[in-house]
Amino acid sequence: MMNSQQKNPAISFEFFPPKTPEGMDKLREARKALAQFNPEFFSVTFGAGGSTRDRTMETVLEIQSEGHQAAPHISCISSSKSEIRDLLHTYQAHGIKHLVALRGDVPSGEVSAGDFKYAAELVEFIRTETGDHFFIEVAAYPEFHPEAKTPSADLQNLKRKMDAGANSAITQYFYNADAYFRFVEQCDALGITQPIVPGIMPIYNITQLARFSNVCGAEIPRWLKLRLEEYGDDMASIRALGVDVVSELCETLLVWGVPGLHFYTLNQAATISTIIHNIQD
Ligand SMILES: Cc1cc2nc3c(=O)[nH]c(=O)nc-3n(C[C@H](O)[C@H](O)[C@H](O)COP(=O)(O)OP(=O)(O)OC[C@H]3O[C@@H](n4cnc5c(N)ncnc54)[C@H](O)[C@@H]3O)c2cc1C
Repeated sequence: MMNSQQKNPAISFEFFPPKTPEGMDKLREARKALAQFNPEFFSVTFGAGGSTRDRTMETVLEIQSEGHQAAPHISCISSSKSEIRDLLHTYQAHGIKHLVALRGDVPSGEVSAGDFKYAAELVEFIRTETGDHFFIEVAAYPEFHPEAKTPSADLQNLKRKMDAGANSAITQYFYNADAYFRFVEQCDALGITQPIVPGIMPIYNITQLARFSNVCGAEIPRWLKLRLEEYGDDMASIRALGVDVVSELCETLLVWGVPGLHFYTLNQAATISTIIHNIQD
């Protein structure tokens, strides 16, 4: 359990922009439920190549109009400098002050390469265009990004993003706390002083989780995968085990002294609310 200092860590929640009015209603409900935890911000993802540009903007502005701090994600792959400039200035004009700056996953099919190759170039561009207006988060990978040539090259990339002007990093999810602790120690050794906030993925469904993990390189430990698979279609047991495992992970991270917790919500509130209540008890 947490000590008294860690009962109220900085919490943030990530959503994706819904495609339908029903999805928007569902997200409003989830947001209302999660607002009880006084999050620092709600972030909203952005489809690579700008595919969700308008929906991300609409969702962000709605969150802001409810009085919450909203942080749009911006991914730069396949985008031109002028498109990103327009987007930045639109957010700036609306009083948005917090961004998550990413390269994005390279989309399949015929798409233009765009003006940016890596997220570090996007961070540099945001600073050149808008000075210190935005608090910039970038992505970090405790188990390393699947395209990284080596772990050291990936750490150097995080350092480049920080040196380009990022204020903080949010990690890819992981279930092995040691991977995160070792990663933060290596960041310290490289002179990275900005906070590295762990990204927390609740376990809703083993097929979906295995699919995500294959793409992003986050490991599902063998013991966890086998125990989840043993439950077959018994979703209630899968979720119950997931809540236990993720609550324990959060407690371990908080005892270690992480700067906050960023939850990948998949636009759902119930499981995460149970996890947060568990760690606050
Ligand atoms: C918190 C979080 C939020 C996310 N939100 C979104 C989202 O909203 N939309 C979305 O599309 N995706 C999102 N992603 C996924 C992310 O876009 C992918 O993981 C993407 O493949 C990499 O993005 P990045 O910003 O980490 O890229 P980068 O930091 O550019 O790194 C990408 C890869 O290139 C390598 N690299 C970087 N620079 C160089 C160089 N100069 N030479 C050689 N190799 C280099 C890195 O080591 C890494 O392997 C998110 C990820 C996280 C962790």
